[in-house]
Parts: sequence; C-alpha cells; structure tokens
Amino acid sequence: MLTSHSTALLNSTVFINNPALEMRYRQTKIIFTIGPATSGDEVLKRLINEQVDICRLNMAHGNHEWTRATIRQIKRLCQEVGRHIAILMDIKGPEIRTGDVGEPVYLESGEFFDFWVDRGAWLKNDDGIRGVDVNYPKLVNDVAVGDRVLVDSGLIHMEVVSTMEDRMRCRVVIPGTLGNRRHINLPGVRVGLPSLTEKDMADIGVGLEEGVDFYALSFVREAAAILDLRAFLETHQSTARIIAKIEDQQAIANLEGIIDASDGVMVARGDLGIECPYEELPIIQHQIIKACIRKSRPVIVATHMLESMITAPIPTRAEVSDVAHAVLEKADAIMLSGETTTGKYPVECVRVFKKIARRIESVHNDEPTKELVLRMPKDKMLRSAVYLANDIEDSGIVVFSRSGYMVRMLSSLRPKVPIYAFTDNPALFRHLLILWGVEPFLMDLSDNPEGAISDAFNYLKRRNWVKEGQTMVVISNTLVEDQIIDTLQVRPVQ
Ligand code: PEP
Repeated sequence: MLTSHSTALLNSTVFINNPALEMRYRQTKIIFTIGPATSGDEVLKRLINEQVDICRLNMAHGNHEWTRATIRQIKRLCQEVGRHIAILMDIKGPEIRTGDVGEPVYLESGEFFDFWVDRGAWLKNDDGIRGVDVNYPKLVNDVAVGDRVLVDSGLIHMEVVSTMEDRMRCRVVIPGTLGNRRHINLPGVRVGLPSLTEKDMADIGVGLEEGVDFYALSFVREAAAILDLRAFLETHQSTARIIAKIEDQQAIANLEGIIDASDGVMVARGDLGIECPYEELPIIQHQIIKACIRKSRPVIVATHMLESMITAPIPTRAEVSDVAHAVLEKADAIMLSGETTTGKYPVECVRVFKKIARRIESVHNDEPTKELVLRMPKDKMLRSAVYLANDIEDSGIVVFSRSGYMVRMLSSLRPKVPIYAFTDNPALFRHLLILWGVEPFLMDLSDNPEGAISDAFNYLKRRNWVKEGQTMVVISNTLVEDQIIDTLQVRPVQ
C-alpha cells in the first residue's frame, strides 16, 4: 500500500517549467577521477559534454609527466568543446605501508606476525615468526597492546600483542594474503606522521605550475595541516581551494576546526570505512554533510558509489539508493573513482549519476537551510532572496561575484531555484563549479550595475537558461552618493 509520503514522491514533478533547462540544470555536482579508462581525447570529450563538473587526478598513482600532460589535455579539450571544468589534484598524504614480500604470502588465522621498523625486506625470524618491514619508524611508539592493525584496505585484521624497540608483534585475527607494499590502517591510533610528505610537496609544485583549481589533502587529522598548506599556496600567489579529506577518527574528533580551516570537505569513505566501524559510516556521512552546510563549505561524498559499474553496465539497486541518499542529503558533489579510472563504463556512470540526481532533486524538500550561520546583514539579505525566489513561480537567482562569498552563502541556503552566478574571474568561475545548485558564468562585468544585469539576462536568454517573462531575483549593488550598497531586486526578464 502506498503511504502519503510515497504518493507524494510518485506525484512529484520537477520544479522547472523550462524543458531545455530541465535537461541541463542539476543541483548536485559530479566529479570523476581520470585514469586509463578515461584518458583518451574522445572519451574525455564525451565526459565533458555529459556535463561533469570536476576532474580529479589521484596522485597516489601517476607521475609528474602524466600529471602535466593530463592537466594540459583537459584544458585543451575544454577549449575545443567550449565547456569548462575544474581540476582537483588529490594529494596522497602520509601513509603507512608494508615493504616487499616478493611472492604474496598467506597469513594464517592465529599466527603471530612481526612488523619491523629497522630491517629491510621480507624475513622469517629464528623463532619461526614471519614478518615484514614498514615505512614508518615511529610505529612502535604510537601503538599499544590491543590496538587493531588492518592491512590491505582492511582485508587482513591483526591485533597488537607486544611492542619492542625494533618491531611490533601482532596476532592474525582475520587471515588473508599479503602482497607487496600494502596499506596499513590503525583505527583510533594517533599517528605522528607529518601531514605532507616530500612527494606531496613535489606534487603540489606541479599543480602550482600547471594551474589546478582544488587540492584535496588526504588524511587530514587537524586544522593545522590545512593552514600550513594554505600559507604555502599563498606564498606562491595561488588561490587554489583546499578540500580536507576526512578519512580517520582523529579527523572526526577535530571535524569542526578542520571544516572551518578548509574550503571544502570530502567524505572519503574508502579509508573512513576501514578506520571506523562500518555501521558508523552513514551517521558520520550525515553529520559531515550537515556540518558543512551549516558552515557554508562544499561537501563531496566519495568512493564506491557505483563500484559494480567497474564491470557492469548498470548499477545495483543498493548503489542507486546510496547515490540517492547523498543527493537527498544535499551534498554538493558526488564522486566517481575506480568507476572512471579503470572501469568499463565511465560515460554510463556519469549518466547514471545524472539520472539519479535529477530525479531525487525533484523531490527535495524546499525549505532553505535553517542551521546556516548568518552573521552579517548581507547574509540575511541572501536568505530573504532565497525565500523570495522560492515563492515566485519559475524563478531563479542572479548574483554577481568577485570573491565568491555571496554565491557560497546562497548555495548553502539550498534554494529550490537555480543560482546563476556571474564572475569575471576565471579562477573563481572554476571554484564555483563545486557548489550545490550554482551555474557559474564567466563574463566581463560592466561597472554600471544596470549594464551588468542586462548583460546577464541577455547571456542567459541566448543560452536558453531563461525566457522572457520569467521573474528573477537579482543580487547586485549600486552606488548611492559615494557608497556601494547591496541590493536585492525582483526583475522581469525582458
Ligand atoms: C577514500 O579513501 O575514499 C578516498 C577518496 O581516498 P583515496 O582514493 O585517495 O584512497
């Protein structure tokens, strides 16, 4: 039997009356990770034409030569296609890894196993206990007896039974096969690794030279890591935005400070789901999204969203629900990883994302965000603009921006109508691509506010975003005597 809620869902219609817009406009942004499956010109052009918003380069793979060539390729193809996307460089960050074991070895349940901090290569002790070296010498100082050690993305579970000066001894709890250089997670352990490695700094340097729009910082544990990177970027006159990847318990404990310090957050569910009990993950995701919206920071939900589509042309029902859940929670962006790096169906994955996002956006609750922190009178004017535009049939918000602040606040208010953001700053234009509900446009801005408004309307009409007769809510400014004042106007499109 249908409940009143399910009837409402079935009866709901998309909120925009303009069919051309209905096909194009999407509130939830799409990020894809580039890799062998998507690095050809043809497939990349198709993805750009399919309206992806951001391309992610994962620096855990890929050398500098590949990175430079890929960034240049994306920029060239954007020019050719006439549609611009942003570039996000995902910095690998510190990581504890095992050394080489040669041939993969099976670790038996209950066996003792040593992690050596000062020996090279794979070895077997005199006392018959096998072991491998790790790349982090302070490991034995950070862990305590009883801590859990998860190897190879959580496939092998161990427990620390003793620590010595040169090694940590564990008991295998969930057995598995250990290969070369496997990733180690230590859930709940405060590790003393630096926030950026030498490799990370070199990668960031390439990003500075080639011009990336966002840096995503892996394993951020406290706000200081973000502040350090920001200071470094500023000394290089870079305005690139910093996304904090939330991947472990320490980051969750310091979440508020990390969000405040960053320009955005990624719910990096791959590692987070290993570092935290998996049943906590949906709650953590919910809390991070809520906190980011409240603090006006864009938030990305990442990893395993359409995992089965690495090999299959359609998603599982569970994946559809997972993507829908992120969209319903009004996350700014959803992200593809393996699906577009090595998957067989990268373009189809983007289409699936779009289809789910559009359908779910059509049943969003239309209430503007209540929890958003509105400090200045200007912020409150933006909230009024959202209520006003939501109340006018077939409306939209037009905003002009040089810093991006007002656009970000409007986005965080989650209006039901499109936010058309005009800027004359190419870097800001690309930064705005991540924001929920924002359709950014790069345009020369007239010094005369009236001229800017009519230029914007003409621009939107020419590209079929709006039609004559629609009523827009316009946020602009005007000069009164010597003073620039903010204005909120209700304007018909003419
Ligand atoms: C993740 O862990 O979910 C993630 C996005 O990070 P990476 O792909 O770099 O492991």
